Amino acid sequence: MPDEEYDFNRFQDAMSISNVGPNYEFTPSSTDIPRPGPTDVLVRLTHTGICGTDIGLALGYLGNHDESGILGHEGIGKIELLGSALTPSPTLRKGLRVGVGWIRDTCRSCDHCMSGQGEIYCRTKTFSGVHVPGTLQQYIIVPVNYLLVLSEDVEPEIQAPIMCAGVTAYKAIKTAAAVPRSWMLISGAGGGVGSLAVQYAVAMGYRVIGADVAEKHAWGMEQGCEAYIDVDVEEDVAGFVKRVTDGKMVAAALVCIGNARAYQAALECVGSFGTLVCVGIPGPGPQNAMAVLPLQLIQEGIKITGSLVGSRGDIVEAMEFVRRGEVKPKVQVITLNEVGYYAGQVGKIEAKLVVRLP
Ligand SMILES: [Zn+2]
Ligand SMILES: [Zn+2]
Repeated sequence: MPDEEYDFNRFQDAMSISNVGPNYEFTPSSTDIPRPGPTDVLVRLTHTGICGTDIGLALGYLGNHDESGILGHEGIGKIELLGSALTPSPTLRKGLRVGVGWIRDTCRSCDHCMSGQGEIYCRTKTFSGVHVPGTLQQYIIVPVNYLLVLSEDVEPEIQAPIMCAGVTAYKAIKTAAAVPRSWMLISGAGGGVGSLAVQYAVAMGYRVIGADVAEKHAWGMEQGCEAYIDVDVEEDVAGFVKRVTDGKMVAAALVCIGNARAYQAALECVGSFGTLVCVGIPGPGPQNAMAVLPLQLIQEGIKITGSLVGSRGDIVEAMEFVRRGEVKPKVQVITLNEVGYYAGQVGKIEAKLVVRLP
């Protein structure tokens, strides 16, 4: 359907953030349906996950949000309308299921885009909810060059958490490049990214030691941990890991929580030639820094690296684990109007929140 025939004279439901800071509020809003440019696609969203980053933006410690106030970056939907310059094809047509994640577009020409590291490090990439309106709305614009078509063999509500939390976990494990069957420490194992990291690590053949608060112990073990450290009780985390691993320590440690103490403890658990992968983002300031003795890295051949979400290719790979039933995200489905009520529970409840859009 050419876009001049499409009825844009309607409003859509959205949820906008206001009063950024400790007393942030999500408020229902009614906005215009966005008009796609000639090479854009209009997507009708059906579901979106809520991620810890959305709450970080609402609290104001992760920088500014988009002026629309519409956050969200774990969107699943269907193609509604193609821009005027686009021609329908089997891989580009109305009704196809697509995903809308944290990265919404890249330039495809800067030195980072051109390098092997690729699009996620693009110098001018746009982020959902930061530079453009996010997925807490019914309709959204996606540039055709950044469209991500997804399998329709899986329930959309369990695909949603993979668009950010799941791919972040999966990519971090890939980044660690540890030998299968080796030990992996996952710090923050009870959180949104961490609990999925446990499932991915097990599915990818690793033996997992989870670390998080005692009240998440049973949940962590349920996700597939072989051992679990109650960080609010255990005083000697490295000693615990040493006992469990027969003195070898872990081949990789993923820190999925933004906590400097967790980083420090994880570094002490990494064995020879192992890798510490930084995922969770501590706040700014020296109190959030980690102390590193260069000699430890030199003598033990330890690497410290960071991992940031994943490319569209990583999302496709991560989704395949869900399609095959090897990773089963536990979700709690809520309505758009319930977002404000549940927002404060992100990272606390033992499930990923997924909004079913009206
Ligand atoms: Zn670029
Ligand atoms: Zn996220």
